[in-house]
Amino acid sequence: MNHFAAIPRVPGDSILGLLDAYAADPNPNKFDLGVGVYKDAQGLTPILRSVKLAEQRLVDNLQSKSYIGGHGEPAFGRLLNDLVFGASNPLIAGQRVGATQTPGGTGALRLCADFIAHCLPSRGIWLSDPTWPIHESIFTEARLKVGHYPYVGADNRLNFDGMLAAFENIPLGDVVLLHACCHNPTGFDLSQAQWRQVLDVVKRRELLPLIDFAYQGFGDGLEQDAWAVRLFADELPELLVTSSCSKNFGLYRERTGALIACAANAEKLLDVRSQLSALARNLWSNPPAHGAAVVAQILGDAELKTLWEVEVEAMRSRIAELRVGLVAALAAHGLAEHFAHIAEQRGMFSYTGLNAHQVERLRDEHSVYMVSSGRANVAGADASRLDKLAAAIASVC
Ligand code: PMP
Repeated sequence: MNHFAAIPRVPGDSILGLLDAYAADPNPNKFDLGVGVYKDAQGLTPILRSVKLAEQRLVDNLQSKSYIGGHGEPAFGRLLNDLVFGASNPLIAGQRVGATQTPGGTGALRLCADFIAHCLPSRGIWLSDPTWPIHESIFTEARLKVGHYPYVGADNRLNFDGMLAAFENIPLGDVVLLHACCHNPTGFDLSQAQWRQVLDVVKRRELLPLIDFAYQGFGDGLEQDAWAVRLFADELPELLVTSSCSKNFGLYRERTGALIACAANAEKLLDVRSQLSALARNLWSNPPAHGAAVVAQILGDAELKTLWEVEVEAMRSRIAELRVGLVAALAAHGLAEHFAHIAEQRGMFSYTGLNAHQVERLRDEHSVYMVSSGRANVAGADASRLDKLAAAIASVC
Protein backbone atom coordinates (compact mmCIF):
# COMPACT_ATOMS: atom_id res chain seq x y z
CA MET A 1 0.00 0.00 0.00
CA ASN A 2 1.12 3.54 -0.74
CA HIS A 3 0.17 5.30 2.51
CA PHE A 4 0.65 8.82 1.22
CA ALA A 5 -1.21 8.36 -2.08
CA ALA A 6 -4.33 10.28 -1.05
CA ILE A 7 -2.53 13.25 0.51
CA PRO A 8 -3.12 16.38 -1.59
CA ARG A 9 -0.67 19.27 -1.90
CA VAL A 10 -1.65 22.48 -0.15
CA PRO A 11 -0.57 25.92 -1.36
CA GLY A 12 2.58 27.32 0.29
CA ASP A 13 2.71 30.59 2.21
CA SER A 14 2.07 33.32 -0.36
CA ILE A 15 4.56 35.65 1.35
CA LEU A 16 7.34 33.10 0.89
CA GLY A 17 6.42 32.87 -2.80
CA LEU A 18 6.81 36.64 -2.98
CA LEU A 19 10.27 36.31 -1.46
CA ASP A 20 11.30 33.87 -4.21
CA ALA A 21 9.96 36.16 -6.93
CA TYR A 22 11.84 39.12 -5.41
CA ALA A 23 15.09 37.15 -5.21
CA ALA A 24 14.77 36.12 -8.88
CA ASP A 25 14.10 39.71 -10.08
CA PRO A 26 17.30 41.12 -11.69
CA ASN A 27 16.14 44.76 -11.43
CA PRO A 28 18.70 46.58 -9.20
CA ASN A 29 16.02 49.10 -8.19
CA LYS A 30 13.61 46.53 -6.77
CA PHE A 31 11.76 47.00 -3.44
CA ASP A 32 10.89 44.18 -1.03
CA LEU A 33 7.89 45.42 0.94
CA GLY A 34 6.52 41.91 1.41
CA VAL A 35 8.21 39.87 4.08
CA GLY A 36 7.48 40.67 7.75
CA VAL A 37 10.94 41.32 9.13
CA TYR A 38 12.60 44.61 10.03
CA LYS A 39 15.17 45.85 7.53
CA ASP A 40 17.76 48.56 8.01
CA ALA A 41 18.80 51.23 5.50
CA GLN A 42 20.95 48.64 3.70
CA GLY A 43 18.02 46.25 3.36
CA LEU A 44 19.50 43.88 5.95
CA THR A 45 18.08 42.31 9.10
CA PRO A 46 21.22 42.43 11.23
CA ILE A 47 21.86 40.90 14.64
CA LEU A 48 21.52 43.65 17.26
CA ARG A 49 24.77 44.69 18.97
CA SER A 50 23.19 44.08 22.39
CA VAL A 51 22.31 40.54 21.25
CA LYS A 52 25.85 39.87 20.01
CA LEU A 53 27.31 41.00 23.34
CA ALA A 54 24.81 38.89 25.30
CA GLU A 55 25.61 35.86 23.13
CA GLN A 56 29.31 36.33 23.78
CA ARG A 57 28.68 36.29 27.52
CA LEU A 58 26.61 33.14 27.16
CA VAL A 59 29.35 31.40 25.18
CA ASP A 60 31.81 32.28 27.92
CA ASN A 61 29.65 31.53 30.93
CA LEU A 62 26.91 29.02 30.14
CA GLN A 63 27.50 25.87 32.16
CA SER A 64 24.82 23.49 30.95
CA LYS A 65 22.49 22.61 28.09
CA SER A 66 20.15 20.64 30.33
CA TYR A 67 16.36 21.15 30.08
CA ILE A 68 15.06 24.47 31.39
CA GLY A 69 11.60 23.33 32.52
CA GLY A 70 8.09 23.69 31.17
CA HIS A 71 7.77 27.42 31.93
CA GLY A 72 11.26 28.10 30.61
CA GLU A 73 14.03 30.19 32.12
CA PRO A 74 12.64 31.84 35.30
CA ALA A 75 14.78 34.99 34.90
CA PHE A 76 13.45 35.46 31.35
CA GLY A 77 9.87 35.21 32.59
CA ARG A 78 10.42 37.69 35.42
CA LEU A 79 12.22 40.23 33.24
CA LEU A 80 9.67 39.92 30.44
CA ASN A 81 6.86 40.57 32.93
CA ASP A 82 8.70 43.71 34.03
CA LEU A 83 9.04 44.83 30.41
CA VAL A 84 5.39 44.23 29.60
CA PHE A 85 3.72 45.44 32.81
CA GLY A 86 6.36 47.72 34.36
CA ALA A 87 8.56 46.46 37.22
CA SER A 88 6.57 48.31 39.89
CA ASN A 89 3.21 46.93 38.77
CA PRO A 90 1.32 45.57 41.81
CA LEU A 91 0.40 42.51 39.70
CA ILE A 92 4.01 41.41 40.02
CA ALA A 93 4.31 41.95 43.78
CA GLY A 94 0.94 40.23 44.18
CA GLN A 95 2.22 37.19 42.23
CA ARG A 96 -0.79 37.40 39.97
CA VAL A 97 1.19 37.25 36.73
CA GLY A 98 3.34 34.50 35.24
CA ALA A 99 5.08 34.01 31.91
CA THR A 100 5.41 30.64 30.24
CA GLN A 101 8.25 30.74 27.73
CA THR A 102 7.26 29.56 24.25
CA PRO A 103 8.83 29.14 20.82
CA GLY A 104 8.11 32.68 19.64
CA GLY A 105 4.82 34.54 19.71
CA THR A 106 3.40 31.88 17.42
CA GLY A 107 4.14 29.22 20.04
CA ALA A 108 2.44 31.40 22.66
CA LEU A 109 -0.67 31.66 20.50
CA ARG A 110 -0.61 27.92 19.85
CA LEU A 111 -0.36 27.16 23.58
CA CYS A 112 -3.12 29.66 24.26
CA ALA A 113 -5.38 27.91 21.74
CA ASP A 114 -4.87 24.60 23.58
CA PHE A 115 -5.44 26.33 26.92
CA ILE A 116 -8.79 27.73 25.80
CA ALA A 117 -9.83 24.42 24.23
CA HIS A 118 -8.94 22.39 27.34
CA CYS A 119 -9.66 24.75 30.21
CA LEU A 120 -12.37 27.05 28.86
CA PRO A 121 -14.37 24.65 26.69
CA SER A 122 -17.20 26.08 24.61
CA ARG A 123 -15.72 29.60 24.62
CA GLY A 124 -15.46 31.13 21.16
CA ILE A 125 -12.59 33.39 20.10
CA TRP A 126 -13.10 36.63 18.18
CA LEU A 127 -10.51 38.01 15.77
CA SER A 128 -10.28 41.37 14.03
CA ASP A 129 -11.24 41.43 10.37
CA PRO A 130 -8.63 41.46 8.94
CA THR A 131 -5.98 39.93 11.16
CA TRP A 132 -2.64 38.11 10.82
CA PRO A 133 -3.64 34.97 8.84
CA ILE A 134 -1.91 32.65 11.32
CA HIS A 135 -4.40 33.74 14.00
CA GLU A 136 -7.14 32.29 11.81
CA SER A 137 -5.40 28.98 11.24
CA ILE A 138 -4.10 28.42 14.78
CA PHE A 139 -7.48 28.83 16.46
CA THR A 140 -9.38 27.01 13.73
CA GLU A 141 -6.96 24.05 13.89
CA ALA A 142 -7.45 23.92 17.67
CA ARG A 143 -11.17 23.41 16.91
CA LEU A 144 -12.22 26.64 18.59
CA LYS A 145 -15.27 28.49 17.37
CA VAL A 146 -13.73 31.48 15.56
CA GLY A 147 -15.72 34.68 15.03
CA HIS A 148 -14.74 38.05 13.57
CA TYR A 149 -15.33 41.65 14.51
CA PRO A 150 -15.00 44.48 11.99
CA TYR A 151 -11.73 46.40 12.19
CA VAL A 152 -10.74 47.92 8.85
CA GLY A 153 -13.36 48.18 6.12
CA ALA A 154 -13.26 48.34 2.34
CA ASP A 155 -12.63 52.11 2.62
CA ASN A 156 -9.30 51.29 4.31
CA ARG A 157 -10.24 53.14 7.50
CA LEU A 158 -10.52 51.90 11.08
CA ASN A 159 -14.15 50.91 11.61
CA PHE A 160 -14.26 51.54 15.34
CA ASP A 161 -18.03 51.92 15.56
CA GLY A 162 -18.45 48.57 13.79
CA MET A 163 -15.93 46.96 16.13
CA LEU A 164 -17.66 48.27 19.24
CA ALA A 165 -21.12 47.28 18.01
CA ALA A 166 -19.86 43.74 17.30
CA PHE A 167 -18.36 43.49 20.80
CA GLU A 168 -21.80 44.24 22.27
CA ASN A 169 -23.06 41.05 20.61
CA ILE A 170 -20.21 38.69 21.45
CA PRO A 171 -21.50 35.90 23.73
CA LEU A 172 -20.82 36.47 27.41
CA GLY A 173 -17.46 35.04 28.46
CA ASP A 174 -15.95 34.55 25.01
CA VAL A 175 -12.29 35.37 24.27
CA VAL A 176 -11.41 38.47 22.22
CA LEU A 177 -8.03 38.73 20.53
CA LEU A 178 -6.69 42.30 20.40
CA HIS A 179 -3.41 43.55 18.94
CA ALA A 180 -1.59 45.60 21.60
CA CYS A 181 -0.02 47.89 18.99
CA CYS A 182 1.20 47.90 15.37
CA HIS A 183 -1.81 45.94 14.11
CA ASN A 184 -0.79 43.28 11.59
CA PRO A 185 -1.69 43.57 8.72
CA THR A 186 -3.24 47.05 8.72
CA GLY A 187 -1.07 49.30 10.90
CA PHE A 188 -4.23 50.95 12.28
CA ASP A 189 -4.15 51.13 16.09
CA LEU A 190 -6.78 52.25 18.61
CA SER A 191 -6.44 55.58 20.41
CA GLN A 192 -6.32 55.55 24.21
CA ALA A 193 -9.92 56.77 24.33
CA GLN A 194 -10.96 53.89 22.04
CA TRP A 195 -9.10 51.34 24.19
CA ARG A 196 -11.07 52.63 27.20
CA GLN A 197 -14.32 52.10 25.31
CA VAL A 198 -13.27 48.55 24.41
CA LEU A 199 -12.39 47.91 28.05
CA ASP A 200 -15.83 49.09 29.07
CA VAL A 201 -17.63 46.60 26.83
CA VAL A 202 -15.16 43.83 27.73
CA LYS A 203 -16.15 44.36 31.37
CA ARG A 204 -19.87 44.48 30.67
CA ARG A 205 -19.83 41.37 28.46
CA GLU A 206 -17.39 39.63 30.83
CA LEU A 207 -15.10 38.86 27.90
CA LEU A 208 -11.60 37.45 28.34
CA PRO A 209 -9.04 39.52 26.41
CA LEU A 210 -6.09 37.84 24.75
CA ILE A 211 -3.71 40.62 23.79
CA ASP A 212 -1.15 39.76 21.11
CA PHE A 213 1.94 41.84 21.78
CA ALA A 214 4.35 41.08 18.93
CA TYR A 215 5.76 44.57 18.31
CA GLN A 216 6.56 46.19 21.67
CA GLY A 217 8.80 49.16 20.87
CA PHE A 218 7.93 49.42 17.18
CA GLY A 219 4.92 51.75 17.56
CA ASP A 220 5.41 54.76 19.84
CA GLY A 221 8.09 53.34 22.17
CA LEU A 222 8.65 50.43 24.56
CA GLU A 223 6.64 51.98 27.42
CA GLN A 224 4.02 53.71 25.29
CA ASP A 225 3.22 50.52 23.36
CA ALA A 226 2.47 48.71 26.62
CA TRP A 227 -0.16 51.28 27.63
CA ALA A 228 -3.23 49.26 26.62
CA VAL A 229 -1.90 45.99 28.07
CA ARG A 230 -1.25 47.76 31.38
CA LEU A 231 -4.66 49.43 31.36
CA PHE A 232 -6.37 46.07 30.89
CA ALA A 233 -4.14 44.44 33.52
CA ASP A 234 -5.01 47.23 36.00
CA GLU A 235 -8.72 47.04 35.38
CA LEU A 236 -9.40 43.33 34.90
CA PRO A 237 -8.79 40.38 37.21
CA GLU A 238 -7.79 38.07 34.36
CA LEU A 239 -5.91 38.55 31.13
CA LEU A 240 -3.84 36.60 28.61
CA VAL A 241 -0.93 38.20 26.73
CA THR A 242 1.22 36.64 24.02
CA SER A 243 4.58 38.36 23.84
CA SER A 244 7.14 37.95 21.07
CA CYS A 245 10.84 38.86 21.17
CA SER A 246 11.24 38.19 17.45
CA LYS A 247 11.00 41.79 16.25
CA ASN A 248 12.17 43.97 19.12
CA PHE A 249 15.21 41.79 19.87
CA GLY A 250 15.66 40.73 16.24
CA LEU A 251 15.63 37.11 17.45
CA TYR A 252 13.28 35.79 14.77
CA ARG A 253 14.84 32.38 14.21
CA GLU A 254 15.63 31.77 17.88
CA ARG A 255 11.89 31.37 18.56
CA THR A 256 11.56 33.47 21.70
CA GLY A 257 8.31 34.54 23.32
CA ALA A 258 5.88 33.82 26.14
CA LEU A 259 2.28 33.27 27.03
CA ILE A 260 1.65 35.50 30.02
CA ALA A 261 -1.32 34.81 32.26
CA CYS A 262 -2.75 37.25 34.81
CA ALA A 263 -5.06 35.65 37.37
CA ALA A 264 -7.28 37.01 40.14
CA ASN A 265 -4.87 35.83 42.86
CA ALA A 266 -1.59 33.99 43.37
CA GLU A 267 -3.26 30.63 44.10
CA LYS A 268 -5.35 30.74 40.91
CA LEU A 269 -2.29 31.66 38.90
CA LEU A 270 -0.63 28.44 40.08
CA ASP A 271 -3.64 26.45 38.87
CA VAL A 272 -3.50 28.12 35.46
CA ARG A 273 0.26 27.66 35.19
CA SER A 274 -0.02 23.97 36.07
CA GLN A 275 -2.32 23.58 33.07
CA LEU A 276 -0.02 25.58 30.79
CA SER A 277 3.04 23.50 31.57
CA ALA A 278 1.04 20.28 31.12
CA LEU A 279 -0.22 21.49 27.72
CA ALA A 280 3.24 22.71 26.67
CA ARG A 281 4.60 19.27 27.55
CA ASN A 282 2.53 17.79 24.72
CA LEU A 283 3.58 20.48 22.24
CA TRP A 284 7.34 21.01 22.72
CA SER A 285 8.05 19.71 26.23
CA ASN A 286 10.59 22.43 27.08
CA PRO A 287 10.96 25.63 25.06
CA PRO A 288 14.15 26.42 23.13
CA ALA A 289 16.64 28.09 25.47
CA HIS A 290 19.01 30.29 23.56
CA GLY A 291 16.87 33.29 22.59
CA ALA A 292 15.36 33.59 26.06
CA ALA A 293 18.82 33.36 27.65
CA VAL A 294 19.91 36.25 25.40
CA VAL A 295 16.88 38.33 26.39
CA ALA A 296 17.48 37.60 30.08
CA GLN A 297 21.12 38.69 29.74
CA ILE A 298 20.09 41.95 28.10
CA LEU A 299 17.18 42.87 30.34
CA GLY A 300 19.08 41.83 33.47
CA ASP A 301 22.11 44.03 32.79
CA ALA A 302 21.75 47.82 32.99
CA GLU A 303 24.40 48.50 30.33
CA LEU A 304 23.10 45.95 27.80
CA LYS A 305 19.53 47.05 28.45
CA THR A 306 20.36 50.68 27.70
CA LEU A 307 22.15 49.66 24.50
CA TRP A 308 19.16 47.52 23.47
CA GLU A 309 16.71 50.37 24.19
CA VAL A 310 18.73 52.64 21.90
CA GLU A 311 18.70 49.95 19.18
CA VAL A 312 14.93 49.42 19.43
CA GLU A 313 14.38 53.18 19.27
CA ALA A 314 16.56 53.34 16.14
CA MET A 315 14.40 50.70 14.44
CA ARG A 316 11.19 52.40 15.58
CA SER A 317 12.18 55.88 14.50
CA ARG A 318 13.47 54.66 11.12
CA ILE A 319 10.05 53.15 10.37
CA ALA A 320 8.24 56.30 11.55
CA GLU A 321 10.50 58.49 9.39
CA LEU A 322 9.95 56.26 6.35
CA ARG A 323 6.19 56.60 6.82
CA VAL A 324 6.35 60.39 6.92
CA GLY A 325 8.92 60.46 4.09
CA LEU A 326 6.81 58.28 1.81
CA VAL A 327 3.75 60.50 2.27
CA ALA A 328 5.93 63.56 1.56
CA ALA A 329 7.25 61.89 -1.62
CA LEU A 330 3.68 61.05 -2.67
CA ALA A 331 2.78 64.73 -2.20
CA ALA A 332 4.87 65.50 -5.30
CA HIS A 333 2.28 63.47 -7.23
CA GLY A 334 -0.72 65.13 -5.58
CA LEU A 335 -1.34 62.01 -3.47
CA ALA A 336 -0.48 63.23 0.05
CA GLU A 337 -4.06 63.31 1.24
CA HIS A 338 -4.95 60.03 -0.47
CA PHE A 339 -2.14 58.25 1.41
CA ALA A 340 -2.11 60.34 4.63
CA HIS A 341 -3.03 57.22 6.61
CA ILE A 342 0.43 55.74 5.94
CA ALA A 343 1.95 58.32 8.30
CA GLU A 344 -0.77 57.77 10.90
CA GLN A 345 -0.44 53.99 11.05
CA ARG A 346 2.02 52.33 13.43
CA GLY A 347 4.58 49.54 13.18
CA MET A 348 6.13 47.91 10.16
CA PHE A 349 2.94 47.25 8.26
CA SER A 350 0.70 49.51 6.27
CA TYR A 351 -2.55 48.70 4.62
CA THR A 352 -1.80 51.06 1.77
CA GLY A 353 -5.24 50.86 0.23
CA LEU A 354 -3.75 49.63 -3.06
CA ASN A 355 -5.85 46.86 -4.59
CA ALA A 356 -4.64 43.49 -5.91
CA HIS A 357 -4.49 44.77 -9.49
CA GLN A 358 -2.39 47.78 -8.50
CA VAL A 359 -0.10 45.53 -6.44
CA GLU A 360 0.35 43.27 -9.47
CA ARG A 361 1.20 46.24 -11.69
CA LEU A 362 3.68 47.54 -9.13
CA ARG A 363 5.42 44.17 -9.17
CA ASP A 364 5.35 43.65 -12.95
CA GLU A 365 6.13 47.21 -14.03
CA HIS A 366 8.30 48.54 -11.19
CA SER A 367 9.68 45.53 -9.28
CA VAL A 368 7.89 46.69 -6.11
CA TYR A 369 6.86 43.60 -4.13
CA MET A 370 4.08 43.64 -1.54
CA VAL A 371 1.26 41.34 -0.41
CA SER A 372 -1.77 41.29 -2.74
CA SER A 373 -3.97 42.71 0.05
CA GLY A 374 -1.99 45.94 -0.37
CA ARG A 375 -0.05 45.36 2.87
CA ALA A 376 3.40 46.90 2.64
CA ASN A 377 6.26 46.42 5.07
CA VAL A 378 7.38 50.04 5.33
CA ALA A 379 10.75 48.97 6.77
CA GLY A 380 11.53 47.38 3.39
CA ALA A 381 11.76 50.83 1.77
CA ASP A 382 14.86 52.97 1.97
CA ALA A 383 14.93 56.69 2.57
CA SER A 384 17.17 57.43 -0.42
CA ARG A 385 14.70 55.93 -2.92
CA LEU A 386 11.34 57.08 -1.57
CA ASP A 387 10.86 59.33 -4.63
CA LYS A 388 11.19 56.27 -6.89
CA LEU A 389 8.74 54.28 -4.78
CA ALA A 390 6.27 57.19 -4.75
CA ALA A 391 6.56 57.57 -8.54
CA ALA A 392 5.87 53.84 -8.98
CA ILE A 393 2.81 54.01 -6.70
CA ALA A 394 1.57 57.15 -8.47
CA SER A 395 1.82 55.43 -11.84
CA VAL A 396 -0.70 52.76 -10.80
CA CYS A 397 -3.15 55.12 -9.04
N1 PMP B 1 1.46 37.95 16.24
C1 PMP B 1 1.53 38.80 15.22
C2 PMP B 1 0.41 39.76 15.00
C3 PMP B 1 2.62 38.78 14.36
O1 PMP B 1 2.66 39.62 13.34
C4 PMP B 1 3.65 37.86 14.61
C5 PMP B 1 4.86 37.82 13.71
N2 PMP B 1 4.64 37.89 12.38
C6 PMP B 1 3.55 37.01 15.70
C7 PMP B 1 2.43 37.08 16.50
C8 PMP B 1 4.54 35.95 16.09
O2 PMP B 1 5.82 36.04 15.70
P1 PMP B 1 6.93 35.00 16.13
O3 PMP B 1 6.31 33.66 16.25
O4 PMP B 1 7.92 35.07 15.03
O5 PMP B 1 7.45 35.48 17.45
